[in-house]
Amino acid sequence: MDNKFTSQEMLEKLISFNSISYNSNLDLIKFVQDYLSEFGIESKIIYDETKTKANLFATIGPVDKSGVILSGHTDVVPVEGQDWSSDPFALREDNGKLYGRGTCDMKGFIAVVLAKMPEIISANIKTPIHLAFSYDEEVGCFGAHKIGDHIKEMEVEPFLCVVGEPTEMKPITGHKSAGDYTCSVHGLECHSSMAPSGVNAVEAGADIVSYIRSVAKRMASEGPFNNNFEPPFTTVHTGVIKGGTALNIVPNHCEIEFEIRAIPEQDPAELIQEIKDYAFRQIEPAMKAVNPKTGITFVENASVPAFDIDDNHKMVDFIKSLSGSNSTSKVSFATEAGIFQEAGVPTIVCGPGSIEQAHKPDEFIKISEILKCEAFIDRLVFALNAN
Ligand SMILES: [Zn+2]
Repeated sequence: MDNKFTSQEMLEKLISFNSISYNSNLDLIKFVQDYLSEFGIESKIIYDETKTKANLFATIGPVDKSGVILSGHTDVVPVEGQDWSSDPFALREDNGKLYGRGTCDMKGFIAVVLAKMPEIISANIKTPIHLAFSYDEEVGCFGAHKIGDHIKEMEVEPFLCVVGEPTEMKPITGHKSAGDYTCSVHGLECHSSMAPSGVNAVEAGADIVSYIRSVAKRMASEGPFNNNFEPPFTTVHTGVIKGGTALNIVPNHCEIEFEIRAIPEQDPAELIQEIKDYAFRQIEPAMKAVNPKTGITFVENASVPAFDIDDNHKMVDFIKSLSGSNSTSKVSFATEAGIFQEAGVPTIVCGPGSIEQAHKPDEFIKISEILKCEAFIDRLVFALNAN
């Protein structure tokens, strides 16, 4: 393999792997592993339970010193149902922009880091750089939890993690948590003319949805509030409701998917408990009185912790100096940052491209963003060698 890539060539290569979260990412991981091994860098491959997906963790520089993690997710969101002007998995350059699924979210960052590898190697850094590339970020940050476990076992804890999600290279110092839940209501079917002898799962579900809505309204009006976020409070929202087959059948099933995006001051576990208490105490007893086999269940599909680092933390100043950006902000979208922070590593989100282009048809990253990210890595390598 020819191991010299420009960032754009590397991005073209990474985009060509269809690593939509429901697919395996192993081809991409294997490519990165082979690429790194040509520089004599060994990768630790951390598989999921099915062995069809994996994280890659690798260290450049001395392993017995505290270092910097550069983190990115290798999966991308689906393209189905989106109107793309060209093949989403073939990089297309047009007018200073690079189009393709994952260009901005977030193979652009990974591409720059990998393309910089020859320079990083020849700089002979005294402070190590760790690469942490994950799977399944887009469907619940499942891969990063295993990287977090790996970090906790490391002999020397890293002193900084940069999550290269698209922020136009502006340091992000906090985001909300994100919890994703399914509530299933198991009712009892009967002919609608005999409605009282059945258990109407849709109506019970509607009561729960309306309670979820009341929690959302309370969060918006009573807080807690944190004005660094937009909106400055915890949001609670029902996104999907399914149930019923025909008007003359009392529905026996209803499924509700809802989410809680909490500011760091709000423990989402308290809110989910409150919603469960309502369902189990106010709704379920009347269902069970008709038939004890009916009931309500809750499943947590995914949970990503909030992340928050003090804007006065010296690592925030460090990232500001590397990115050339003087301001910091907090955002409402979740990333893997909370997982690295939970593992004990001061974490900042900073990467090329704009979240505006993420998840959309004709996703793109501006070449100017790639250049800004290259300069960021150059300054990082220089700074790591200076101390
Ligand atoms: Zn992302």
